[in-house]
Amino acid sequence: MDVFTQQLAEYIEPLEAFALHGTLMDCFEYHRRREMRKAAAAFSDRELSWLLHMMNEFRGAADRKEDFDLLFDPVMYMEDHSAWTDLPGLIIDLPSLNTQVFDRVGANSVFRAIAENEVLRLAVLADTYPDKAIVGLTNMAIAAYVDQDALITDRISAIRYLAINTSARLEDYWVADDALWMKTGIRRVNLPDVVAEQKSDILQCRATVLNDAVTQEDLVCFSEREIKDFAFNPDRFLRSGKTRHMVLCRLCQGRIAQWIDFVRHTEERFMLEGKGRLPEA
Ligand SMILES: [Zn+2]
Repeated sequence: MDVFTQQLAEYIEPLEAFALHGTLMDCFEYHRRREMRKAAAAFSDRELSWLLHMMNEFRGAADRKEDFDLLFDPVMYMEDHSAWTDLPGLIIDLPSLNTQVFDRVGANSVFRAIAENEVLRLAVLADTYPDKAIVGLTNMAIAAYVDQDALITDRISAIRYLAINTSARLEDYWVADDALWMKTGIRRVNLPDVVAEQKSDILQCRATVLNDAVTQEDLVCFSEREIKDFAFNPDRFLRSGKTRHMVLCRLCQGRIAQWIDFVRHTEERFMLEGKGRLPEA
C-alpha cells in the first residue's frame, strides 16, 4: 500500500459509519437488512433466538446460520452479479427465489421431491411454535428477500415458504446445477433511493465530521477532473477544502482508489522500463 492510500484509509476508517453507499449491492444490502429489522421488531430477542434455533435444526448441523441476515440471504446466489460494482441505483435484478423455481418445475422433478420433503420436515420441527410466530418469521424472510409479490397470512403457506427458500438441500442442488434457476429468470426489484435518504439523514441530524457540521456541499460527488487531480496530487486534495466528501462517499473513495492504482502501475512500469535495464556496455 502506498503512503497516500494508507493515509486515506486511516483518515476514512474511524468515520466509516457515515459513509454513503458506493455500489448497487451496498444499497440493496442496506435496504433489505433494514426492512428485515422492521419485520423482526414484532419479536423479542428471546423469541428470535428460539426461531433461529428451529431454522438451524431444519438446516442441519453443517449448515447452521449465525443470524437471520445470513439465513434469509439472496446475496448468497449472487457471487458474480454486476451489482457488486454497479453504481448505486433504484432497480436491481435478483436471481429467482426457490419458491419461484418451484412454481415452474414439473410434478415429477427432483427439485419438487426435495422441496416437498423439506416442507414436511419443517412442519414437524415447527409443531410447537404458534401460528403467529411462524407467520411473523415468514414476514421477516419476505422482507429480507425483498419479495415484493409475496403475501402470506396462514401457517401452511408460511411453512412452505420458509422450508423451500431456506433449505440447505436445495442450496446443494443449486450448487451442483443452477439450470432451473437460470431458466426461471431474474426478478426485478425496485429500491428506494437510500443514498438520498442517507444524505438527508446526515444533514438533518447535523452530523459532524472532523469537528464541523456536514453541509449540502459536502455531499456532492467529485468531478472526474477532481478525482484525477487528487489521485496524482495528494497535496491538492488535502488543500481542496473538500476532504469531508471523501470521508462520506464510498463511491468517490472507490473512484480515487482506481486512479491511485493506475498511477502506481504507471510508475512501476516507468521504473521497469527506465531503470530496470542496465545500460549496454
Ligand atoms: Zn462522491
